[in-house]
Amino acid sequence: MNRAPVAGEPGWPQASSVVVGVIGDPVRHSLSPALHNAAFTAMALDWVSVAFPVPPGALDAALDGVRALGVRGLSVTMPFKEAVAAKVDRSSATAARLGAVNCVLVEPDGLVGDNTDGEGFLAALARGAQFDPSGRRCLVAGAGGAARAVVLALAQAGAAEVVVVGRTPARAAEAARLAGDAGRTGTPADAARCDLVVNATPLGMAGTSDPHALAPVDPALLGPAQLVVDLVYVPRPTRWLALAQSRGATTLDGLGMLVHQAARQVELWAGRPAPLEAMWRAATGEDRHRRVTALEG
Ligand code: NAP
Repeated sequence: MNRAPVAGEPGWPQASSVVVGVIGDPVRHSLSPALHNAAFTAMALDWVSVAFPVPPGALDAALDGVRALGVRGLSVTMPFKEAVAAKVDRSSATAARLGAVNCVLVEPDGLVGDNTDGEGFLAALARGAQFDPSGRRCLVAGAGGAARAVVLALAQAGAAEVVVVGRTPARAAEAARLAGDAGRTGTPADAARCDLVVNATPLGMAGTSDPHALAPVDPALLGPAQLVVDLVYVPRPTRWLALAQSRGATTLDGLGMLVHQAARQVELWAGRPAPLEAMWRAATGEDRHRRVTALEG
């Protein structure tokens, strides 16, 4: 090979490889490096994405390290999205509005914070269900970081109404305000008259104290005229999503949002379109399966 190896080739990563990382706590379980690296391979870039576990109290030191070592970008996951928003040198309008950063570009003059969760969510709706929120009635269960990104994105996409259902009234009201005139707080019963119903709580997620728990909206309120989305992607589907599907609703799990928000991160770092199909294959394990099959063959 005359040229230097790029992602996925023998001899890679190497001294010249550009490094990006995912920071979180815990983060060793994260799918993001696999998604980023699949993109870098398909783009023939000599880039590598790795997970950097950051212990409590070590965020400042981690960000100093990123600057000093020339790490090109960061994906930011729990519990650091809000803390990083307060520490970057500049923010995109979306990250500033949300007060949460899930993607950092390391520029020569400082750290630039962005948030790709909302764009990832809208892209997942479009690709997975050909759903355009414009003029539609939407309900979001939860009022945390993911819910806020979804509420803002739905409003920016022209939703007629964005109803936030949260267990902590003040947080629900704050999330609803992100949707401006279209936003209000509500109850699970509002789901019956919505076109789109989203679970943005961790209820039903594997690894939580009750992985069989159902999202806050009773599946009996869901039916054939609705798109029902669970941001949780382990397991696929959650029990709640499976019940919605059995009632005739169109359903989407959280893997699409994960892939699309990671794709947008790759685009922000590399300045080029991300290879979505390669990232989908990595997300669903088809790449791994093909490699194993090849070795076995
Ligand atoms: P977060 O900031 O901790 O917010 C969690 C929200 O869920 C809060 O509003 C919380 O209520 C609510 N909640 C938690 N337990 C509840 C319960 N037992 N009953 C009712 N509400 C409850 O978390 P996040 O970052 O928004 O993440 C939420 C979920 O989305 C997680 O499962 C995460 O994995 C998933 N997610 C997926 C993607 C993707 O790409 N697919 C991206 C981001 C997040 P309070 O307001 O009262 O605290």
